[in-house]
Order: sequence, then structure tokens, then C-alpha cells
Amino acid sequence: MGEERRFTGPVDLHTHSSVSDGTEAPGDLVRAAAAAGLGTLALTDHDTTAGWADGSAAASAVGITLIPGMELSTRVQMTSVHVLGYLFDPTDAELVAETERIRTGRRERARAMVERIGVDYDLTWEDVLAQTTTGGTVGRPHIADALVARGHVENRSAAFAGILHWRAGYYQPHYAPDPLTGVRLIRAAGGVPVLAHPITRGRARAIPEERLAVLADAGLFGLELDHRENEVEGKEWMRGLAKRYGLRITGSSDYHGQGKPNRLGENTTDPDVLDALIAEATGSAPVYPASE
Ligand code: AMP
Ligand code: FE
Ligand code: FE
Ligand code: ZN
Repeated sequence: MGEERRFTGPVDLHTHSSVSDGTEAPGDLVRAAAAAGLGTLALTDHDTTAGWADGSAAASAVGITLIPGMELSTRVQMTSVHVLGYLFDPTDAELVAETERIRTGRRERARAMVERIGVDYDLTWEDVLAQTTTGGTVGRPHIADALVARGHVENRSAAFAGILHWRAGYYQPHYAPDPLTGVRLIRAAGGVPVLAHPITRGRARAIPEERLAVLADAGLFGLELDHRENEVEGKEWMRGLAKRYGLRITGSSDYHGQGKPNRLGENTTDPDVLDALIAEATGSAPVYPASE
């Protein structure tokens, strides 16, 4: 048997703060999680650990457990693939360098998209910057917020369904490593990688079994199957693959504050799975509530 469990449920392992594309500061997000009755929350902003300090302080203050994490952007051709990383060393030189490269690539890509959108709509790069936090990871959600502020669309979802959709012609991808590199980087930094929302486009467009096997070999820990954007079609097939390759199943909300309909704790992870995840991590420690 391992160590005695020091966290409580419910466990939500995927959330975003204003350090990336969520709408609440990390501390406010953690307080919202406590108010929603969660016992354990992972902070997983896109390509940055900038929210860890604020999130940790808030978690200690309100007495819930924080699992420091990140959602790493990776890509296979034109398809973006998200890899969640937990409890890695935030000072690991290679991971730091790669996330900087991704954030720079995201910024350049956003600028290029805004330039093209600006030909047809009243929208400037300053409008978009006004929607981001200093040093935060820039994404399409911030372009969406700027479009909302200018009155071009009603909300983020409308922006994604219209102007920001690849079909509208303004979309372009940003720099990102491939998923195998992502998994290796997270493991090399002592962290634990989980494939985020792996079946949002159905079985036909999901990761092929051979590629999943390679990721499992490289140290992939689990699949985030309990997530609202996963399609039901193919989920059982993926559960079978998880079993075959010894991958654990996680569940989470992917909460973005007011930026998405996803609510804290709407999907959760089995505490036994989090025990196993923590046991494999060597890069950083969970922030546990002070013991009485
Ligand atoms: P990007 O990584 O810059 O291409 O933007 C993708 C991000 O936008 C994802 O991480 C989602 O969290 C967010 N997103 C995608 N679709 C929507 C939507 N319909 N409404 C709000 N946010 C969305
Ligand atoms: Fe996001
Ligand atoms: Fe994601
Ligand atoms: Zn996410």
C-alpha cells in the first residue's frame, strides 16, 4: 500500500484561469472550486505555469487540494491535440523553453489571424491584448472576447461557430510540438501526462491505436474520457484501448469561468486514479490543506 491519502473528493483535474483563456484569476478560480464543493482541483492553463503561485496560496487558504498542472498544446498536422501534464517541475529547462516557444507561436498566430479578420471587421491587435492578462497565453478565446467587445458577435461560442471557425477562412494553426514530444517532455520533468478530451471528433478521427500505443510506451498515464466534449460514439472503443495499454481514465470539467458553459465538477476523477497519478509524480508536490 502507498502513503495515506491526503486529499478529498470530488476531484476535478482540468480547469483554466485568466492566465490562459479562463475568465477568473487563479485564486478566484480556486475559491470558486471550494464554493462548488470540490475537494481537489487541478489548475491546467494552456502552456503556462504562471498561475501556480496564486492558485496554491488560495488553495491553502480555503483548505482544498491543488494539483499544479498545465494543458500542453501539441499538434498532428492540422489537428491540435492537448496533453495535460500534472506535478512536473515548473523550472525544467526543456519544458520551460518549449512552452515559451509555443506561447510565442500562439501570439504570432493570433496577430496574423487578427490582421486578416481586421480586413473585414473593425478589430485591432490592441482590442485583443486588452482581453488578455500580462504575459498570459493568447488564444482564439481572446480574439472572441475582442469580437464580443466590438459587438461583432454575441459571445465566445458564437465567435467559435463563425469567424474563428476554420471554415471562415481566418483560421491558422500555431507552432506546437507533436504529442509524443509533449508526453516525453512532461515525463522528463517528473510529471504525469494525460491525453485531454481524446475523442471529441468521434472514432473515425480519433488518435489511431498505433499512435496511442507509442504514447503509452513513452509514459502516457491516462485518457480524459469523462469530459463533455468527448463523443459517445467511440468512447467504449477507447475504454477498451485504455485497458489494453494500461491507461487510467480521468474525468474533468475543463472549466473556463464565463468563457464556456462547462461547470466545475460536472465530471470528476476517481480518487484511486489520482492516488496512482500522485505516486508516479516526482517533479512537484500537490498543495495539500494544512493538517489539523
Ligand atoms: P486555440 O488553442 O487558440 O486554437 O483556441 C482553442 C481554445 O478555445 C480551446 O482551448 C477551448 O478552450 C476554447 N474554445 C473552443 N471552442 C470554444 C467555444 N465554443 N466557446 C468557448 N471557448 C472555446
Ligand atoms: Fe481553453
Ligand atoms: Fe483542451
Ligand atoms: Zn482545457
